[in-house]
Amino acid sequence: MSEQANPFESLQEQIDDASAYVDADADVLARLKHPERVLETNLSVEMDDGSVEVFEAYRSQFNGDRGPYKGGIRYHPGVTRDEVKALSGWMVYKCAVVDIPYGGGKGGIVVDPDDYSESELERLTRSFAEELRPLIGEDRDIPAPDVNTGQREMNWIKDTYETLENTTEPGVITGKSPDSGGSAGRVAATGRSTMLTAREAFDYLDRDIAGADVAVQGYGNAGWIAAKLIHELDANVVAVSDSSGAIYREDGFNPVDVKHHKNETGSVTGYHNADQELSNEDLLTLDVDLLVPAALENAIDGDLAEEVSADVVVEAANGPLTPDADDVLAESDVYVFPDILANAGGVTVSYFEWVQNRQRFYWTEDRVNEELERVITDAFDNLVDTYESTGAPNMRTAAYVVAIQRVLEAYEEGGNWP
Ligand code: GLU
Repeated sequence: MSEQANPFESLQEQIDDASAYVDADADVLARLKHPERVLETNLSVEMDDGSVEVFEAYRSQFNGDRGPYKGGIRYHPGVTRDEVKALSGWMVYKCAVVDIPYGGGKGGIVVDPDDYSESELERLTRSFAEELRPLIGEDRDIPAPDVNTGQREMNWIKDTYETLENTTEPGVITGKSPDSGGSAGRVAATGRSTMLTAREAFDYLDRDIAGADVAVQGYGNAGWIAAKLIHELDANVVAVSDSSGAIYREDGFNPVDVKHHKNETGSVTGYHNADQELSNEDLLTLDVDLLVPAALENAIDGDLAEEVSADVVVEAANGPLTPDADDVLAESDVYVFPDILANAGGVTVSYFEWVQNRQRFYWTEDRVNEELERVITDAFDNLVDTYESTGAPNMRTAAYVVAIQRVLEAYEEGGNWP
């Protein structure tokens, strides 16, 4: 593999690519390529043995023209300042593509949570929440889960914030568990929007998703739910993977059984019903109808893209394709339906959670799923209309055109301050 792309540079390149199709001055567009502010902090956390460890942590608030900053917090040893900046920018354009009233933000801590006990992770999370407290709030910046964080961490952040502020404000954070003010349907939402995007994409391309061969890279929350819901459309999930490797079965897997195996053993590999085991790279180059990258950034670079044999790619992860990979796949007529639409279900149901928190009135899971389907299918239709009317080279650029126009409208209506 060639040298890893810097995700922040990838984001800036994506904005540049779309700028050619947007009627705006260069100075205004330049604003869209840089975060408004980034918090960099070092958290001193007491370990169970009494020692103190220091963790680097970030929160980037990229753009707030359309509403409060919004986006998850990830715990990963590979977190960097530039990665968090990129992820916060992707949130701006994601919220704009699905037209929910938020800007974009993102946070991260450089940590491998597997190396720490639950009480150490709780102290780490509460320490970050304390640092974030002046920056966040239900009308200011609303964090959420991301890679390696979930309901548990969100509940701790909510509790820390509410305790320090001496209030109840569940809408300060989303992705909480239902008893702490979470929404029905939030956990499955990212996988659900991935499925909806794949369904709409196949329909748009006049192909049958029933019977289609599908490979899913990554079996975390987004990947496994996407595999399950796409399987429920009668597609054939022939390959899945996680960081331990990939498994392949010509007749397709039952994703729920594979998930049980992963819950028991810690990985998808070793699953008894597989024909063979593959590497993650082999999975990404399988000759399938649909490929769903659902792990981390830069899964497919320009070199690997030359070997991708899928017809359609639907991105459940954030930033899984580098700009070079985009160019190669567009040349070979592979349709890529971008992350900022396909995985937007997570933040869309976060928005529903925030609305419910503010109204103190909770919806059924059916209502959540119906509203989510409406948001994603409307955004999909708008995306393909823009793709066709602008002549943009690929769906990602078209998605950025939609998103940038919306952000610019809000900015222009408000004017520059001071
Ligand atoms: N981390 C998710 C994302 O990348 C969800 C963000 C949110 O719910 O605010 O879209």
